[in-house]
Amino acid sequence: MSHLKDAIDERRDQLITLTQDLIRIPTLNPPGRHYRDICEYLEARMSPQGWRCELVRAHGSPGDCEEFPRWNIIARRQGARPGDCVHFNSHHDVVEVGHGWSRDPFGAELDGDRIYGRGACDMKGGLAASIIAAEAFVATHPGHAGSIEISATADEESGGYGGVAHLAGQGAFAHVDHVIIPEPLHKDRICLGHRGVWWAEIETHGRIAHGSMPFLGDCAVRHMGAVLAEMEAALWPLLAGKHTEMPVIPEGARSSTLNINSIHGGAVEQAADYTGLPAPCVPDRCRIVIDRRFLIEEDLAEVKAEIAALMERVKAQRPSFRYEIRDLFEVIPSMTDKEAPVVRTTAAAIRDVLGREAGYVVSPGTYDQKHIDRIGKLKNCIAYGPGVLDLAHQPDEWIGVQDMSDSAKVMALVLEDLLTGS
Ligand SMILES: [Zn+2]
Repeated sequence: MSHLKDAIDERRDQLITLTQDLIRIPTLNPPGRHYRDICEYLEARMSPQGWRCELVRAHGSPGDCEEFPRWNIIARRQGARPGDCVHFNSHHDVVEVGHGWSRDPFGAELDGDRIYGRGACDMKGGLAASIIAAEAFVATHPGHAGSIEISATADEESGGYGGVAHLAGQGAFAHVDHVIIPEPLHKDRICLGHRGVWWAEIETHGRIAHGSMPFLGDCAVRHMGAVLAEMEAALWPLLAGKHTEMPVIPEGARSSTLNINSIHGGAVEQAADYTGLPAPCVPDRCRIVIDRRFLIEEDLAEVKAEIAALMERVKAQRPSFRYEIRDLFEVIPSMTDKEAPVVRTTAAAIRDVLGREAGYVVSPGTYDQKHIDRIGKLKNCIAYGPGVLDLAHQPDEWIGVQDMSDSAKVMALVLEDLLTGS
């Protein structure tokens, strides 16, 4: 067991170089740049070591086109005898750079223990750690049982449809027994799942008229104002009172939440033909997009019924009120059992490497586990990886080399436990 940890320590320089190489491939999403390049880079590294690599394009998935094809890679290593299949899944896409950087976002500068760059923590550091873990394990246990898979997949940052959802739909997880997603949840924490999501557009209807005689029309924005007032009075207090047993972090997300993502009514602001003064009209449409995050104790139908009931209450007070609710996106909550094999094994490995008990958390937002759970029908899945979650998507994002090395040791011990039975 200790020679496995030594094998990770011996690969420290490789871990740094691999992380830097991955960060230097700017796989920006949107629009989905260099996906093929990063898959080919990984294939060139892993194929010569006996990994069977398959590059899969998600033809026809959202955003897939000849200029920005949605490429994924699955690398597979078959052991010497039958056994479980352990799959590490990382997304290879990164979000836009944004403002406020003091380092080159794609320079992968090493400064002390930190490597800087967009995607360093979310999640190329985790991808690199899982590869080094697997390579060290294979080198020290060439006769291992079962199989190991490492996938790097597209588009997690935009829903994962051209990535894990596509692969799961093709049956890529049918033979898999354990999944670890090395998202940056910190090296001593196991993420069991995530809350649910319902996005919907609510539109209020009115009637257009001249703005100097608003009494001849019916203002859709005023109707929406009544909807928002009802939300303030009744909905937010109701949601704040709903608490979950899920160990969601941060603490504030242990209740139900609702965000209003956008609001719009009347003439289009800054439209292409905007000349400086808007036309004087009573707006006949007003729309909001709501982002409702719900708990494992709640049912999606119940969540939707709450909004429907709120709209009906408003309608009862406003004679001309008409509205529509359109579903945009939904994900049900997912939470792996703490007694699931991959959870127990990872907790034991954390205890071994770090000398402390693992923390159990649930993510406030969703990630690719949703597709593995719902499409892949696999419940034995966690997120575990190095990095500080708060740094994700921020300027001067970084990953700590020691954190990567420690979590690589945890991942390697998980492989040892699951694929050698020792
Ligand atoms: Zn991520």
